[in-house]
Amino acid sequence: MSKAVHPLVETLIIGGGPAGLATALGLARARRQVILFDSGKYRNWHVSHMHNVSTNADGIFEATDAAGETWRGKTLVLATGVTDNMPDLPGYKECWESCKIYHCLYCHGYEDSDCASAGIIAAFGLTSDAHLAAQFAGKVVVYTNGSEELAQQVQELVKNNPKITTDTRPIEALIKESDADGEPGIKLGASDSAPAETVSHRFFVHAPDALANVSFAKSLGLELSPNGAEIKTTAPFNATNVPGCYAVGDVGSPLKAVSQAMALGSVAAAGVTTNLF
Ligand SMILES: Cc1cc2nc3c(=O)[nH]c(=O)nc-3n(C[C@H](O)[C@H](O)[C@H](O)COP(=O)(O)OP(=O)(O)OC[C@H]3O[C@@H](n4cnc5c(N)ncnc54)[C@H](O)[C@@H]3O)c2cc1C
Repeated sequence: MSKAVHPLVETLIIGGGPAGLATALGLARARRQVILFDSGKYRNWHVSHMHNVSTNADGIFEATDAAGETWRGKTLVLATGVTDNMPDLPGYKECWESCKIYHCLYCHGYEDSDCASAGIIAAFGLTSDAHLAAQFAGKVVVYTNGSEELAQQVQELVKNNPKITTDTRPIEALIKESDADGEPGIKLGASDSAPAETVSHRFFVHAPDALANVSFAKSLGLELSPNGAEIKTTAPFNATNVPGCYAVGDVGSPLKAVSQAMALGSVAAAGVTTNLF
């Protein structure tokens, strides 16, 4: 049986998180036609939910949904978010999923104010903000996973804050619940100067690499940032390099936060509307 091809609409929005919903709201208030697709997986997109998106010579966007049906739009808004790629460290995923690793201390941390200690994982590509963690914890340890060089860099940055120390022992694993209070722990191997040990903290800080959820849209020829974390866009409406296509929220900005996603959704709605006149 042939799959349905739906009538042309003004805008296709792919992604129903804060960015996609804000765009849809803006367009609905401008009395514009919108079809919004959402795989329902918060920051965890799976490719099978959307097989392909492409443009044709007339500048019409086509999206094929999971049932194989085709949807066509004069404009396209990508609000598909990012995928967080976990480092290959035993126990990391379990700690991440149980919210024992904070990727952003403006989002989380305040609620743990006055806790005994926090651990910063300054390895696997990121040095997080030890100074900010020290606003919440009595003691902050920055773990560098065997790197003396990184430890020296961190020490230079935190030398005026006696709460912050570094630990260069190799990181072997994270443990979701490592003590009687259910606090997470870090399993450290021995170094020349210290024995192997497991240390508990109230929380850990680390941000996994984020990658823009755009693999289904390769045929559009979208330009990405060098680290692949977002689609390149231009102000004021977050237009992409593909005429008629906008990218909003985490997939369209290096500032990945709900307020930013909603704001970009609203401005892109204005851009889309302008494009439709
Ligand atoms: C652990 C964690 C905690 C956070 N806490 C905060 C916080 O406290 N405050 C804050 O401001 N920000 C926080 N953030 C960041 C915040 O979650 C994001 O900035 C925000 O969700 C971005 O919204 P978005 O709409 O761009 O993307 P998302 O919320 O990721 O939504 C994208 C949507 O697109 C859908 N989708 C993707 N691909 C397809 C497809 N091909 N077809 C159909 N649907 C698709 C997905 O199912 C998803 O629903 C946190 C992030 C993480 C990981």
